[in-house]
This record gives sequence, structure tokens and C-alpha cells, in this order.
Amino acid sequence: AYLDRIEAEDGAIGAYLHVDAEAALRSAEQVDAARADGGALGPLAGIPLALKDVVVTEGVPTTSGSKILEGWRPPYDATLAARLKTAGTVLLGKTNMDEFAMGSSTENSAYQVTRNPWDHDRIPGGSSGGSSAAVAGALAPWAIGTDTGGSIRQPAAVTGLVGHKPTYGSVSRYGLIAFSSSLDQAGPMARTVLDAALLHEAIAGHDPLDSTSIAAPVPVLAESARRGAEGDLAGLRVGVVTELGGDGHTDGYEAGVLARFTETVALLESLGAEVRPVSCPAFDLALPAYYLIAPSEASSNLARFDGVRYGLRVGDDGNRDLDEVMALTREQGFGPEVKRRIILGTYALSSGYYDAYYGQAQKVRTLITRDFTTAFDGDDGHGVDVLVSPTSPTVAWPVGARVDDPIAMYAADLCTLPASLAGVPAISVPCGLSDGLPVGFQVMAPALADDRCYKVAAALE
Ligand code: GLN
Repeated sequence: AYLDRIEAEDGAIGAYLHVDAEAALRSAEQVDAARADGGALGPLAGIPLALKDVVVTEGVPTTSGSKILEGWRPPYDATLAARLKTAGTVLLGKTNMDEFAMGSSTENSAYQVTRNPWDHDRIPGGSSGGSSAAVAGALAPWAIGTDTGGSIRQPAAVTGLVGHKPTYGSVSRYGLIAFSSSLDQAGPMARTVLDAALLHEAIAGHDPLDSTSIAAPVPVLAESARRGAEGDLAGLRVGVVTELGGDGHTDGYEAGVLARFTETVALLESLGAEVRPVSCPAFDLALPAYYLIAPSEASSNLARFDGVRYGLRVGDDGNRDLDEVMALTREQGFGPEVKRRIILGTYALSSGYYDAYYGQAQKVRTLITRDFTTAFDGDDGHGVDVLVSPTSPTVAWPVGARVDDPIAMYAADLCTLPASLAGVPAISVPCGLSDGLPVGFQVMAPALADDRCYKVAAALE
């Protein structure tokens, strides 16, 4: 049924970069055969799935939205792809994304524009916009996205989905094409909180192949979602972050977004939560800090795309030396936003500027982490259990509206960046419409307390 939907609708939406109907049907048949034989079935046996094209998949084209990887068929599976196979999911295809996950609208893809199923003239968010459009358009029941500065939460918010960025280190990064290694984290995008929790459980857990993977047990999330759905939040302490759309910090926020946010906070109170404002002053600096740290790490991570080891190679005609081939390959293989980030990152890391830019940004990152710790621990243990904010300052904007204005594009990440920089978990759950377009509500929790995000989100569903 999903393959039929893709066939009928994806020409207009453009969610997928690669679909292999035959392979999907074959793996569905294998599940059916195992079922008929009474064989062991994974917990998600037979459920179709879409993967963001940043996830490396054995034998299946993987481009990370870039021309430089066109035609590359990886020789191995990312840990999360392998885990989802073992769980029994059926891969429908790979979804479009901003090139190397750099963007907030999916318009930075080297291949195609993806449309928001709610309004085809609008963007589906980014960088996981292929995944959000696939799920919102019912071209997949759920999907995996990745989030470096908001790329799961913001596309989920603007397409009316649930999207969760796990605690940094709790989902393996092995086999995710690296953008900013200290920030990248994969997570679920789904139509309900329970679905997101089930998908998250299937990919979580320690992985010795990722040196930043946390050796903690797989969190119990579906159970938290089920408990949350009972709607009792008595005693839950909720902090409303002043710096994210609160008094004196409403610049750039749409009135409709703030109205839905305020109503949802009132709903939390009516479910028994104790709500109070919490100031996190360093959050005001998250945007500049992120846009130094992420490009710095990217400039280093993208050095491996040299025309020798993977994908595209330009100008290797026997008359050019290696440096020329590398330069030509990178010139033609990378799009403008990727080049902008490489230049920015290389500059920020260069000797003489390192302390002024990268070093300062790392200090800000520490201050942001401290703001979270202070909010959660409080004085004498009187902290809050979760912090909340809008997910995105605006609803989905028209295709093309921000492509020539990088700063406007970056502003889409205002609310999502603090949790990224601190490595704490954060979920976006739908909280109504503004002008007929979906608005997202963000719930942030302390590291490894992802279950709290699911519980609160389920209560709001
Ligand atoms: N929009 C942000 C950026 O362009 C975040 C992207 C992401 O989370 N992958 O870097």
C-alpha cells in the first residue's frame, strides 16, 4: 500500500531519493514466510520504514543529499540500519535531505525540492525534510531522521509529526555520514508519540563501533508513552524557557505559534503540572555558537570527500595532478551552502582565530549546558523536570522564501539549538495549527531522561 502511495504521490512531493519496490516486497515476503513457518520475528516485523539518506545502507545508494556521493553504494550498514533490519522493518527507500544535513528547508539538496504535504508551495522543514514529508504524506508510516541542530524536531513540527532527538550518545552514529560529530544524533519521526517511542527503542543502545556511544541500557520509552497517554501529570515540574519566545524574546516568533504554545502550557497545567518561567540567559548565544562549532567540525569531517575514496571524481584525465583533481571534484561536487560552511569552519579553526571564534563558542556551549543543569537541579533540589518552548519560531514558509538569505534560514533553529549543544534529549509534538499549518511544542529533559519527553508529549497528544 505504501509503495502504491509513493507511486501516486511522490512525483508531486519529492520525499524520496531512492525507492526499490522489488527489494521492499522481497523483504516483506521474507517476513511473511518466517511468520508462516512459526520462525522468530523481530518486534517490528513487516513494518515499512524510510531512512534519511545520511544513513549508510549496504548495497543501497546513499548520497547524503550531495552530488559528491552520487552513485555510491556503501559496503556496510549503519548500526541503526542493521538494528532496524533485525527488528524486521521493511526498507521502502531513502529520503531527501539538505546536502550533508546543512539546512532547515531541504532546499539545499543537490537533487530535488521536497514539498510539504500540508501545502505543496511550502517547505517540509529540514534537513530531514524528505523523512517528514514521507511520513506526513503517508508515503511511510514512520522514518528515521538526524538532528544536529534541530533537523528532526523542526521538520516534524512544520509537518505535524512527532520527532525526537535522543540524548547525545544514546543512539549509535556508526554509519551516519558525519556533519558535526559532537552534535549529530539520529532519532524517530512518526505520527504518534507511541510510534516514535517504539522506533526509538529499536535503534537505541550501546554500540562499541561508536566511541561516543553511552554504555547505558536501552531506555524504556513505549511504556512511558503509554503512561503519559493517561493524561496525569500531577507533580510534574515544567519550566517555560523565557529566552525562547517568552517576555522580551518574541522577535522572529509568529503570533500564531506563540498562541498555540501558551495554550499548550495551560493544558499542561490542567493535567496537573506545576508550571513556572525559567531563565536560561546563555540560550541567547546558542545560534552564533552553533554556527561556529557545527561548520568547524563539518570542515574537518568533509575533508574525506577528496575524489579518491568515494563517489564523484572530476578531471582525472591523466593530465592533472592529484591536487587539481581534488579541487575540481570538491568544486563541482559540493553545493553553495556546504562550501560556505567549509570556508566558515576552516576560518574559525585557523591559527590566530581559533581562540577568538571556536574557543569562544565552546565556552558558550559550556554556559548553555550549565543553564540546563541549573534549571534541572535547581537550588536545593527545587529544579524542574522538563523545559518547554515552541519547536520552531514560525510555521512552514513558502518554497524559495529564504534560499538567498542564510541568516534567515539559520534563524529557524533558534529553539532547537540549546538542547543540541548540551546533548540533552528533546521532542517535538504537534500542538495545533496556525493559519492552517502545524505548530510544534518542544519538551527538553536532562540527559538520559528521554522517557520524560515521551511521557509529557503523550499526555499532550
Ligand atoms: N538547520 C541547522 C543547520 O543547518 C541544523 C541542521 C541539522 O540539524 N542537521 O545546521
